[in-house]
Amino acid sequence: MRHNTKKETILIALGGNALIRAGQQGTIAEQLENLRQPMQQIARLSERYRIIITHGNGPQVGNLLLQQECCSAVPRLPLEILVAQTQGQIGYMIESTLDGELEAAGLGNRHLVSLISYVVVAESDPAFLDPSKPVGPFYSEEEAKSLPWPVRKTAKGYRRVVASPRPVTIVEKSEIRALIDLDFIVICCGGGGIPVIRDGRAFHGVDAVIDKDLASARLAGEVGVDIFVIATDVPGVAIGYDTPDARYLDRMTVSEARRYLAEGEFPAGSMGPKVEAAVQFLESGGKRAAITAIEGIEQAVIGGNGTEIVLA
Ligand code: ADP
Ligand code: MG
Repeated sequence: MRHNTKKETILIALGGNALIRAGQQGTIAEQLENLRQPMQQIARLSERYRIIITHGNGPQVGNLLLQQECCSAVPRLPLEILVAQTQGQIGYMIESTLDGELEAAGLGNRHLVSLISYVVVAESDPAFLDPSKPVGPFYSEEEAKSLPWPVRKTAKGYRRVVASPRPVTIVEKSEIRALIDLDFIVICCGGGGIPVIRDGRAFHGVDAVIDKDLASARLAGEVGVDIFVIATDVPGVAIGYDTPDARYLDRMTVSEARRYLAEGEFPAGSMGPKVEAAVQFLESGGKRAAITAIEGIEQAVIGGNGTEIVLA
């Protein structure tokens, strides 16, 4: 019996490219293959750390929405149900790949589990008054007119938009903490979690999408994570991103992060919530936070890869 009481806990938030790379079609074979590389790193890390994995679901939920448009024989499913479906499908893909990599690393005795996760949002969240997060397929102006949801014109066409409220609390936080204490590897809060509103003592799902990085930061604070790694498709945080003067940062303090956020260096739909999530995590007592490329997860935990965000 190993003594795990002193093991630190890492939360790894996997971006969409852990599953589908740019230019790929996104077949299940591709997604399983892409997962091998991050799962090899996570398998090795699990020897020395407790592990929580969260993940995005943008392309997967988009495909489910598109599949519904292609079939009118069965009723359309609400977004909350589709988020639950992607937690199941991606949880399964992560579990099966990680299982294989643990086995290959001689760690086949590690237990892992995927949890369907609810995340509470506030009915009074101002995001509900201004749905702005595009989801699912692109429509022509003509098609867009007959859709039953709010729609917005984007660069590539019209898209359904949903609210992106802030995560208030993770419903299963006690269960996740208990599983982590037992040294289970826990996969949870997929796609930012299924957004629910408190209704007396019960919950009901809402048509919304929670940012997975902000949900991960909230989870990290609630279960007492030590190290938070946000893994994405760029080497880290850049200043002047997408300009000839772009410069990746090895290190960024919380006050620099705030200033750059205010100066518009980090857009709302992509790098903004990652930086905000790292800041929130450190301010709620987290020890270390890094934003890094998928290939650099292990190195970022050790230090010296990606952008480390520090309190001061
Ligand atoms: P994920 O699926 O990992 O959440 P996102 O697309 O939401 O990925 O966020 C990562 C993207 O953020 C990068 O691909 C990059 O294009 C974009 N980005 C915007 N601003 C910056 C910045 N200042 N530094 C680095 N990347 C940035
Ligand atoms: Mg994202």
